[in-house]
Amino acid sequence: MSSGIQKLLLLGAGHAHVQVLARLAQHRPADLDVTVLTPYPFQTYSGMVPGLVAGRYTSAQCQIPLEPLFKAAGARWVQGRVTALDAVAQTVQVAAAGGNKGAPDHLPYHRLSIDTGAIIDRHQLDATMPGAAARALIVRPIEAFAALWPQVLELAQKQAVSLAVIGAGAAGLELVFAAEQRLRDACPAGASFTLITGGGEPAANYPEGVRQRVLRQLKRRGITVLREACTGVDKGLVHLGSGASLACDVPILAIGTHAPVWLQGSGLALSDSGHVQVNACQQSTSHPNVFAAGDVATRAEAPHPKSGVYAVRAGPALAHNLMAAHNSQPLKPWHPPQRTLNLLSCGAGHAIASWGPLHAEGGWVWRWKDRIDRAFMAKYTLPGTPTPAAAG
Ligand SMILES: Cc1cc2nc3c(=O)[nH]c(=O)nc-3n(C[C@H](O)[C@H](O)[C@H](O)COP(=O)(O)OP(=O)(O)OC[C@H]3O[C@@H](n4cnc5c(N)ncnc54)[C@H](O)[C@@H]3O)c2cc1C
Repeated sequence: MSSGIQKLLLLGAGHAHVQVLARLAQHRPADLDVTVLTPYPFQTYSGMVPGLVAGRYTSAQCQIPLEPLFKAAGARWVQGRVTALDAVAQTVQVAAAGGNKGAPDHLPYHRLSIDTGAIIDRHQLDATMPGAAARALIVRPIEAFAALWPQVLELAQKQAVSLAVIGAGAAGLELVFAAEQRLRDACPAGASFTLITGGGEPAANYPEGVRQRVLRQLKRRGITVLREACTGVDKGLVHLGSGASLACDVPILAIGTHAPVWLQGSGLALSDSGHVQVNACQQSTSHPNVFAAGDVATRAEAPHPKSGVYAVRAGPALAHNLMAAHNSQPLKPWHPPQRTLNLLSCGAGHAIASWGPLHAEGGWVWRWKDRIDRAFMAKYTLPGTPTPAAAG
């Protein structure tokens, strides 16, 4: 056993950390002092955000209320963001969030766990897509995106909007389908919907059969596909690699993400892309008292896509290993599965399922996804928390 009180600091309340908190709620060692640094009193479940855009869920239904979880886990919540980390001095620098006047400048730790997700770095974005950081509706942070979406709805009620989603991976596809479904009828006639792929095919990371299903759905829904790069965004215009420009009232940016900038200079071993390099136990390869999971981390020995599915799957191992490390017990490795079930919603009511080379689609797939998502939310929404229906 460790001697004295040990400080465990959790950065972010992402998919893996809600599981750590649930585990602490079952049993928190008396000599463990837990602090969570995270900016919002809720964790947005990104898998349900396209359903929010489509009008199927309320914001509250897409959010896990965190305060009951913190309370049950006996954890102190500091409402703020990490802005720098010194892995040698074992402290993080804090910027207050949500008007928190009492936030400390720094938080010290004995053991640190990072699950802050990935970001879209606005400086990098400005270099490749001038104007996008200022003018596009960016999907990260997802809380800001979800909060701004009602303004798009308001605009669409007044005029026939032209909406373009830039990025044709899973998030971009789900969002363009959801936006089309919600706005086509809400808008005065003449609304248009475009998917800008970056140059390649939509759903390029999926097997050919899934790509064909996606293309059929895009065609059926009247969504124009431009296989071009976006080179910049101006007021009312999206510029394209071919030199053409697309008139666009609502550019939505759903391109690949970056590692948080504050990790640079932390002293932690980072991958080439700047993510925290962790071993099979989700433990930093350079600092054994630091753990990380989700989109912020990279497993060099077992690379896997950065997605919510893997962030969720890493949760039990992270929770186990944080407790094992505290109790000076052996850590357990975790092996990410080679394949995961992928459920891609094409607006509320229809989805495409894939698992390795197998694929299928229909209303039943969407209902299946809906059940899985709601079950995840229910698991971490503690008794006593207002129900989503009541809160929404
Ligand atoms: C529209 C959309 C739909 C998606 N749908 C799916 C899907 O269906 N399936 C799937 O597998 N993946 C999906 N993804 C990808 C998925 O969102 C991410 O892979 C997943 O959220 C990563 O989880 P995470 O725990 O690493 O981080 P996140 O879920 O991003 O959580 C990060 C946490 O850290 C907090 N935080 C952020 N910055 C700081 C900071 N500086 N200091 C302190 N706290 C901070 C945040 O508030 C949050 O609590 C989707 C993404 C988008 C944009």
